[in-house]
Parts: sequence; C-alpha cells; structure tokens
Amino acid sequence: MVRISIPTLPKVPLVPPSGISLLPLPEAASYLSNFLEKGKGKTTILTGAGVSVDSGIRAYRGEKGTYSNPNYKPILYHELVEDSERGDMFRRRYWARSFLGYPPVRDAQPNPTHIYIAALQHLGLAPNLITQNVDNLHRKAYSLLSPNYDESSILELHGTLAKVHCLKHRHEQTRDIYQDEISRLNPVWDNEAKEAERTGRRPRTNPDGDVELHGVDYRSFEVPPCKICEKEKVKASMVKPNVVFFGETITPTVRDGSLNLIESSSSLLILGTSLATYSAFRLVKLAVELKKPILMITTGPTRADPFVGKGMNKMDRVAGDVLGKYLDEAVKTSTGKEVEDVKRYLHTGVVKRPPEVEGPRAEG
Ligand SMILES: [Zn+2]
Repeated sequence: MVRISIPTLPKVPLVPPSGISLLPLPEAASYLSNFLEKGKGKTTILTGAGVSVDSGIRAYRGEKGTYSNPNYKPILYHELVEDSERGDMFRRRYWARSFLGYPPVRDAQPNPTHIYIAALQHLGLAPNLITQNVDNLHRKAYSLLSPNYDESSILELHGTLAKVHCLKHRHEQTRDIYQDEISRLNPVWDNEAKEAERTGRRPRTNPDGDVELHGVDYRSFEVPPCKICEKEKVKASMVKPNVVFFGETITPTVRDGSLNLIESSSSLLILGTSLATYSAFRLVKLAVELKKPILMITTGPTRADPFVGKGMNKMDRVAGDVLGKYLDEAVKTSTGKEVEDVKRYLHTGVVKRPPEVEGPRAEG
C-alpha cells in the first residue's frame, strides 16, 4: 500500500502579526543584520515557493494555505513509474503536458529576492542554501554574481526540473537535451509548443512544470527512452525528471546532506515558505531541537508556527523587502570584490508575476 500525503495547511493564521512583524522596514532590516552578524558566516538559508512567485512560477498554495489552483491534481510517483499499460498512459500524459509546460520554467528569470539571497551567499553571510524549489532560479541568480560559484552550496531538497535521469541506471542528462528529443519524436506536439511560444498564449503552468490540457488524446505522444541506456546497449529504461514527486521519498544522500547542514550551521534563516512539505519542516524541527537561532521571514501561516517563541522568531513580511533594504545598506559600508559583484547585479532581478496572482504575494 502506497501512502500518499499531499500536505495542506490550516486556513486561519495560527499567529496574528505581532512582535517583530510590526517593525518598520529599516528596523526589520537591522533585526536581520543582527541575526546574520550573530551567525558569524555560518547561517544556512531555507527557501520555498514564495521566493519564486515574482518570477512567474506559481505557488502550490496561496495565502491561506489552500491550493492556488483548486483543480490541480499532481501526478503521483507510483503512477508515473508503474510498469503497466496504465503506467504507460500516465507517462505519456505527464511528458506531453510537461513538454508544453517546461519552456516558461526554463525561461524564467531570477527576481530580486533570488538575487538578494545569492548576495547573502556570495558575501559569505549565509554561504549555504537549502531550497524546496525545483525551478533552478537560485542557481541562475548565483551564477550571475559569480559564474564559478560552488555548486554544492545549493541543495535542492526536491530536485530540479533542469535535469532528467533514467530510473534503472540513474543516467543523468539535461532537460534541454531531453526536451529536444521529445520535439524530434513528436512533430505535432512540437508545432503546438512553437505556436504557444509564438503567440505568447502559453498554457497555464503548474509549479512542477506540468500544464493542464483538456480533451487531448495522449496515446499518440511518444516518450523517448534513455539515450545513454541505448548507447550502452542495455534495455532502455524510462526517464523521469530529477524532481521528487508526491508519494516519492527523497534520496538518503539529499536527506542526510540537508540534516548535516542544519547540524553544522550556527543559525537558520527561513525565507518565503509555508514549510508544508515534511522534508523541509523536519529541518526546522531539528534546528529547534539543537537550539539553533531561527528567523523566519514569510507571509501567512506556516507549519512551523507552533515554534514561534520556542527558539524561532517569525517576521510576517515579504522576505525580499527586508533583504533588499538590508543589502542596500550593507553594500554601502563594505568593500571588496564580492561586494562589487553584488553591487553590479543587486537591482537586476526581474519581476514577472503570473497573471492569475493578485494582491498579496503567495507563499509555498
Ligand atoms: Zn539510462
């Protein structure tokens, strides 16, 4: 029996804005400054969907913890890998939709918050980052500031859409190469994708790069097998994106890596997330148990709200506002190559919000 849990959140904020949430912006930025100073360059950052909303990547959940798209049913891991005719249909459906849904994720640009977070890393204030996002935007931002940044300084808890691998041998390739392979095998779908590109009428993309299509027959869609298997002359295995699906467990390497990172950190800075996934919540729980100072800057209710006042402080604000204010001040009074890198790109973040998101920014 496969146990599937799709997390939901309470509909009413457990903690009304109070305390540090009410600080005016300059004081909020000073609060962050003190927090980072006490961390002595060993603070770790944890992020979620809230930081990517301004890049047009929609959060799973809106302000009140409900799914921002009530009709959205994510593909479940056991369906995707099922070795049967039914599994085969699930894979055709998944890859057809994902083929059309990927370009907007591929083309998304880092927003100011991604740049600010990369700046904290590059300045050595918080060198390591754990993210629940699969959109590759933290890497895009960091590589702007520093093309040769240390790739191991970003840990993607739920994987990345930028890569795929085959199930049997874990042969890894870039999503762009696999996307081209799909184009070649499916000229009709390729035309559809080009048309969407040309008209700008792209279908609504969900955060895992999936789109919703109605009244479509997926039987004609060809899912390319693993090319590396073919090259090595072994039975070609099915290909899956490097993302953790609902009902799938994260690999022991990623799980242990994230837990070890929390253990070796001096403090934890949580930005733009409701912590609805257990793999992220568990990290906060560990930080509380280890008595690491924790500052959370995010809007709306979160799964970690019961920790407020028990080792965690929560600022109910848009994380980017506080980070931007802090960094503007910080770079004024500092010098060095890293500071120059940061100054050059600090205000290059691009805001391109999805059309359906209105009002206060959503968190995920
Ligand atoms: Zn393979």
